[in-house]
Amino acid sequence: MTAQVSKFAQAVGGSAVVGMRRKADAVEASGIKVIDFGIGEPDFEAPPPVREAAIKAIRDGHGNYVDPRGLSSLREAIAQFENDSHGHCVSPEQIVVTAGSYGALSVVTRSLLDDDAEVLALEPGWGPYKALVELTGARAVGVSMDTQDDRFVIDAGRLEDAVTPRTRAVIFNSPWNPTGRVLSTPELRAIAEVAERHDLWIIADEVYSELIYGDAVHESIAALSPEVAARTLITTSFSKSFAMTGWRLGYCVASAQMAPLLARVNQYTLRCPTSFVQHAGIAAINEGGPFVAAMLAEYTQRRDAIAAGLNAIDGVACPYPEGTFYAFPAIAREWGDSRDIADRLLEQAGVLLTPGSAYGAASCHHLRLSFATSVDVIEEGVARLRAAAASF
Ligand code: PMP
Repeated sequence: MTAQVSKFAQAVGGSAVVGMRRKADAVEASGIKVIDFGIGEPDFEAPPPVREAAIKAIRDGHGNYVDPRGLSSLREAIAQFENDSHGHCVSPEQIVVTAGSYGALSVVTRSLLDDDAEVLALEPGWGPYKALVELTGARAVGVSMDTQDDRFVIDAGRLEDAVTPRTRAVIFNSPWNPTGRVLSTPELRAIAEVAERHDLWIIADEVYSELIYGDAVHESIAALSPEVAARTLITTSFSKSFAMTGWRLGYCVASAQMAPLLARVNQYTLRCPTSFVQHAGIAAINEGGPFVAAMLAEYTQRRDAIAAGLNAIDGVACPYPEGTFYAFPAIAREWGDSRDIADRLLEQAGVLLTPGSAYGAASCHHLRLSFATSVDVIEEGVARLRAAAASF
């Protein structure tokens, strides 16, 4: 058979996190128990009222197609949540419910981009942005940020230098996977100013918006001004906030002009997100608060344990994560590229983590560790890393 597959399918690579997990499976098959700091997935179950609401919705027969924008009762709950938590002033008409943030990003990129467009993607950056942009035929242009006092910070000059006549959008996330940073108001303003000067869309992935530690404050770029809000498309989900990764429930927040367009693209993506899961989403917003607070308290202890443990290792410097559940320590340059170090740590110490190189060249001397795991596991993993690092 000579029938062709798409150029995208031929070119798209696998995820670094999944690739490392496969290597870890081989290490485990040889009898070593691997400590897993790899995938960014909450180790909690969805809050009990959410699970009950889904079961009730199934029992009540809520199994039909619904509006491609999402249930109006869910969009009302989401708009209220966004206004209360993130300083917005949005109405339910500005919400489009999707299948997770992947669904939201897919709808947004396919609504904004064509073949000849370019999208500026801040690096270190979440790998799938590139693939999601390229699925539309457009090109993702990585723009490396640099560190100040071991923390990656926004350098708007670099962003501006990367703008061409084809640039149509900038994509980033705050809280920032993989760096663990939460962008400050001046940093958000700097990104918004570049977008306004060059008339770009802003794609703001806020999937970690509820995972914030200590004094850090998550501010949405769309809350800066009505003008910035008009050019911003927020993508987010219930996955991390409410420990609902497999439920596939997310949404976009867009201007009242853009939302109907996104809803049309959503319709031709999956007709509508799963109906009974949308009922569970209402319960998450209305009744999930105490469960989210308890998870956050637990994540805070884990963050403290992992950052303190990593900083006690010679050759490792780990800024305290301000948000997300990722530690992103720098490692000594003389140790070499993080890909080799990640392989060695897996093989020699049985510790699974993700090399910073997977997030762009700017972080080739960093490692990402997901701390969505217990303090006991964190302590065991850090002890193994300390022992292995002594031989580097
Ligand atoms: N954006 C970022 C930055 C992520 O880390 C993830 C999950 N790893 C997603 C989006 C996708 O999450 P979901 O589709 O489950 O909402």
